[in-house]
Amino acid sequence: AIPLVSQISTALGAKNGILVKNRLALEEARTIDVVLFDKTGTLTTGSQGVAAVAVADGRTEEEVLALAASVEASSEHPIARAIVAEAAERGVPVAKATGFAALAGRGAQATVDGREVLVVSQRVITERGLVLPVSFVQSARDLAGSGATIVYVLSGDEVLGMIGLADTVRPESLEAVRDLTARGVRVAMLTGDSHEVATWVARQLGIEEVFAQVLPGEKADVVRRLQQSGRVAMVGDGINDAPALAQADVGIAIGAGTDVAIESAGIVLASSDPRGVASMLALSKATWRKEV
Ligand code: ADP
Ligand code: MG
Repeated sequence: AIPLVSQISTALGAKNGILVKNRLALEEARTIDVVLFDKTGTLTTGSQGVAAVAVADGRTEEEVLALAASVEASSEHPIARAIVAEAAERGVPVAKATGFAALAGRGAQATVDGREVLVVSQRVITERGLVLPVSFVQSARDLAGSGATIVYVLSGDEVLGMIGLADTVRPESLEAVRDLTARGVRVAMLTGDSHEVATWVARQLGIEEVFAQVLPGEKADVVRRLQQSGRVAMVGDGINDAPALAQADVGIAIGAGTDVAIESAGIVLASSDPRGVASMLALSKATWRKEV
């Protein structure tokens, strides 16, 4: 039988937007040493908008956006949605792409009008040893310095353009980090995004431990590494986060997240408010403080 005390706390949690899928997860929560947050969509709203487009000589913004949107039409990623929305907003005609492939943690590619078009992160530029137009370097630095994520649009090995995407730090995130720190819990952040963007967000929130440019397959490894020094709660929203949520001692999905993340988590924060993590720890401690 389910002990009455945890039935009550489960109901209490639900009232506060904390959905307990696995009762053990709520009980374990009181022993957590580290909370590892995913950045995009968890500490930030994840609803990115196109902030800037830069193009190589002889290219137009419309051409670059149209190619990028053709590729991204088949992707579910927030970056893809923002690019498709921007193309639609500008009334740019978007061709139908074939052979779409997601490059996990790196970008996406497809064939558009017989050309291989890619929309990718800086990592891919570095891995392929591609050279950026000189004019991009300063724009990229400025965008990254304001916390914007940058993706590059390629036709084969040729860099056609650069798209900067602005994301917003959730107004509740700062308090969420402070509440946890005040409880003596270590706070860390994990992201597939670049070191520049990760550092910018972490600085806004006073987070000192940052893992950036982590590929989807490596997120669970970061959890494992942190588990060597304590018990870890992982908070995330994305498909990419599912293995890390499952690996953590307590997996917490935020409500606006994907079904896969929610499935892998023991606890779901219905409101997408990261302050719910501290409330949940408090609820856990209050429930199991005394042996009942
Ligand atoms: P996270 O969810 O931690 O921000 P992801 O693993 O989803 O990271 O993505 C990491 C990086 O890979 C993104 O910041 C972006 O540069 C690139 N990326 C992933 N998917 C896409 C996509 N569909 N289009 C463009 N870039 C992408
Ligand atoms: Mg994510």
